[in-house]
Amino acid sequence: MKIAFIGLGNMGGGMAANLVKAGHAVNAFDLSAEAVAKAAEHGCATFDSIPAAVDGVDAVVTMLPNGAIVRAVYTQDVFGKAPKGALFLDCSTIDLATAREVVELAQAEGYEMVDAPVSGGIAAANGGTLTFMVGGSDAAFERAKTVLEPMAKAMIHAGETGAGQVAKMCNNMLLAIHMIGTCEALALAQKAGLDPQTFYDISSKATGYCWSLNDYTPMPGVGATSPADNGYAGGFASALMLKDLRLAMAGAETSGATVPMGEHAMKIYEAFVEAGNGGKDFGAIFTTL
Ligand code: NAD
Repeated sequence: MKIAFIGLGNMGGGMAANLVKAGHAVNAFDLSAEAVAKAAEHGCATFDSIPAAVDGVDAVVTMLPNGAIVRAVYTQDVFGKAPKGALFLDCSTIDLATAREVVELAQAEGYEMVDAPVSGGIAAANGGTLTFMVGGSDAAFERAKTVLEPMAKAMIHAGETGAGQVAKMCNNMLLAIHMIGTCEALALAQKAGLDPQTFYDISSKATGYCWSLNDYTPMPGVGATSPADNGYAGGFASALMLKDLRLAMAGAETSGATVPMGEHAMKIYEAFVEAGNGGKDFGAIFTTL
């Protein structure tokens, strides 16, 4: 299959390389010359414009920073330039309203398109073990699977257009809330005189169990190994969690949902990132308590 890949950053670079490894011909484009050079090293063909990269392809994959960029890339440089019948897959994490709008515009131009955001970080992108949450028709999902497979550990059909972005924003809002709760419980246990490891041993087997506590314990030296044991380096950056929480708040507004805990979690991450901690793992909220 001939696939155009646009957005070869931390995530997209490894994803494009995995498509090449699977035997696809990959046309790569990014605004960053460095990212393009890396893609060439991984066997991608490189182009100096998006219209040139999407010419004659079967599918276009995008992995871009935000909704405004995704909209601009498709409306200005992909629609009318990619062949009719090409499948578009936007794997970026973007706001729900824009995700739905771009798919509608693509359909009006005669293209099939899915939203296919991912769970898993840079290591999963490089290792081809991302989980894709796909929104679109049954037929579009079946077509998308053949493109996504070399980059995926799992591909889940979440529902109609936008359902992938809904799944992603709800999951990450829940993750932020239980991470903050986990940090608070560990700090309270310690301050109230209970050994935090003993608290972990009890609560990880009791009703307090959750991924943040059991598998990603945000307190150094306690419970599961996590970025907390490495000075909160690596892992999932607080700035990215803040981005996802802002998308969830926008999604709540679009859909009329009430999310007081999500809103509060966003404010906590906002203050943490504004204090210069955007690069630290999101479990580092523990250090503020
Ligand atoms: P990144 O900033 O490393 O990469 C984005 C790339 O897009 C950059 O190389 C940039 O030059 C390129 N770009 C920007 N505008 C462009 C344009 N107009 N045309 C072509 N290229 C353009 O970001 P990332 O970490 O790879 O994240 C990409 C997406 O994946 C985001 O939506 C992010 O939320 C999502 N995501 C990231 C992670 C993670 O752990 N990094 C995990 C899950 C999802």
